[in-house]
Amino acid sequence: MLWCVGSFSWFTDDPINYHIIANRVGKQFKSFAQHLEELFFPPRCIGCARITKVEQYDWRFLCRACFASIPLQSGAICSVCGRRFLFGKKGGFGIHSACKKECFYVLAAAAPYRFPLVREIISRYKYNGVKELALPLSELLRAHLVGVGIPDLSIYSIAPVPLYEKRLRMRGFNQSLFLAEAVATALRLKVIGGNLVRIRNNKPQITMRDWDMRRKNVIECFRTRDASEIAGRNMIIVDDVSTSGATMSEAAKALKRAGARRIIGLVVARG
Ligand SMILES: [Zn+2]
Ligand SMILES: [Zn+2]
Repeated sequence: MLWCVGSFSWFTDDPINYHIIANRVGKQFKSFAQHLEELFFPPRCIGCARITKVEQYDWRFLCRACFASIPLQSGAICSVCGRRFLFGKKGGFGIHSACKKECFYVLAAAAPYRFPLVREIISRYKYNGVKELALPLSELLRAHLVGVGIPDLSIYSIAPVPLYEKRLRMRGFNQSLFLAEAVATALRLKVIGGNLVRIRNNKPQITMRDWDMRRKNVIECFRTRDASEIAGRNMIIVDDVSTSGATMSEAAKALKRAGARRIIGLVVARG
C-alpha cells in the first residue's frame, strides 16, 4: 500500500497537503475486508487511544493532537564530537572546524528518543509491522530535514539503510526504505535504492549493549553495487533509529568509498 504513496509525483512539500494525500492514497487501496474490520474495530491512536478520523487530519493510528505534541529537534549532530550545530551559518556545510577532517557524515535526528510516544511509534512500526506509521514518521523526518537548513537540499539523493536479504524476508519489509521513499516523494528527491547493499547478516544491534561490540558487529558490512551512480553525489542515508552510530557510520563509509560528496544520516531518533 505504501509503495503507492512513494510513486505519486503530485505530492507537495506542504505538510498538510502531504498528509491528506497520503491518507487518501492509503484509503484507495484498502480492501473490503479491511473496511469491514474497521467498521467493528476502528483504528485508535496509539498515543491517546481515541478513535482516529483520517478525514479530520489524523493519521490512521495517530491522532493529529498526539502527532503535534512530538517536539522536533533543532540542529544536526556532528558525528565526531556529538554536538549540535546549524547548517550554513558561515556558508557551506557549517561543521566545526576541529571535526572537519574526520567528519564524513552528519547526523540529523528528528525527534527525541526519550519522548515515550516517539519510542512507541517506532516500535509499533518496526517490530509490529504497522506500516501506516511510516507516514507520520516520514513527516517528522521531512520537517526536521527542512528545519536544519541543509544548503542545497534539492540536489541530494536518498538511500535507505538496507537489510540483509534473510532479515528482509523475516520482517517482510525494510522499514528504512518506506521512510526513504516517503521523504523523497515529499521533497522531490531521487531515491537510490538497491545500490547500497548489506553483505553480511550481522546480529541485530539491539541485542548488543556494548558499543564497541556494536561497532565490530557492523564493520565493513555494506558495499555499493554501482559506484558510478553514487560518485559526486550528495547523499542522505535514512534509517529509523541510530543508537551507537555504528551502522550509520559504516553505511556512510561505503558511500564515501563509492565517491559520495556530502552525507547526511537521517533518522527519526537517536536512541
Ligand atoms: Zn492521540
Ligand atoms: Zn564536532
